Amino acid sequence: MEIQFVGKRALVTGAGKGIGRDIAKRLVELGADTVALSRTQSDLDSLKAEVPAIKIVQCDLRDWDRTRESLQTVGDIDLLVNNAGVSRIGPFLDVKEEDIDWMFDINYKAVFNVGQVISRSMVDRKTGGAIVNVSSASTFHGLEDHAVYSSTKAAVDKLTHIMALELGKHKIRVNAVNPTVALTDMGKVKWSDPINAAPMIARIPMGRFLDVSEIVNAIMFLLSDKATMIHGITLPIDGGLLTT
Ligand code: NAP
Repeated sequence: MEIQFVGKRALVTGAGKGIGRDIAKRLVELGADTVALSRTQSDLDSLKAEVPAIKIVQCDLRDWDRTRESLQTVGDIDLLVNNAGVSRIGPFLDVKEEDIDWMFDINYKAVFNVGQVISRSMVDRKTGGAIVNVSSASTFHGLEDHAVYSSTKAAVDKLTHIMALELGKHKIRVNAVNPTVALTDMGKVKWSDPINAAPMIARIPMGRFLDVSEIVNAIMFLLSDKATMIHGITLPIDGGLLTT
């Protein structure tokens, strides 16, 4: 099965590091004219040096209005991956208001903001399009110390459902992916410690964490014309964790 995005324009948020960086690179490989949006300019500069064809946009997605201004510069987007995300873990009893605001601003409100602007443009242009929101397997499980993070991703799952419900008639497909752990900068914070990792891996029937490419592959499929009737799903990428 060959996937290609020649003639399509893609936007990936949080493309400076981790999963988003690999998503952006793969989109370029598959022919998409790709815009990488992220917060840290040096990450974007190194991505541009690695992949000169990529267009980079520096933007802090926490800033609702500035994000809207930045999106005016990205051109007509056909494929959107709302990937940017943050995590600050800790016991429910110790969570501070600022933790809740920070994670909801980036993990949820930015998905809403970027999704709304890009979908509006797709609707006005009558081109349709495809959107993938990067959620988390933690929405399906109880995971200690993840009260806020998991809640933000549960909100993304529900947003994905409603976006799919309302945007389908405009030929805009919207799906989410729900990965378990991958050892990116974010993943390493908790899961690089064998004391935390071992019991988590023991819960995963496939017996290991994810390689980032396994998340990227699923996202490419959902964005592609091989998935034309897959719409409104929250796709576990979890090595069978849901079976336990
Ligand atoms: P990561 O390595 O920490 O990368 C996150 C990226 O998002 C970085 O480039 C970061 O830029 C960017 N970002 C964060 N806040 C931003 C903001 N305010 N404005 C613009 N960009 C911002 O994390 P990752 O592991 O690749 O995670 C990517 C997505 O996958 C997230 O939505 C995460 O919740 C989800 N996920 C990850 C895992 C995992 O185990 N890694 C599992 C399930 C789901 P800066 O560094 O410059 O802030």
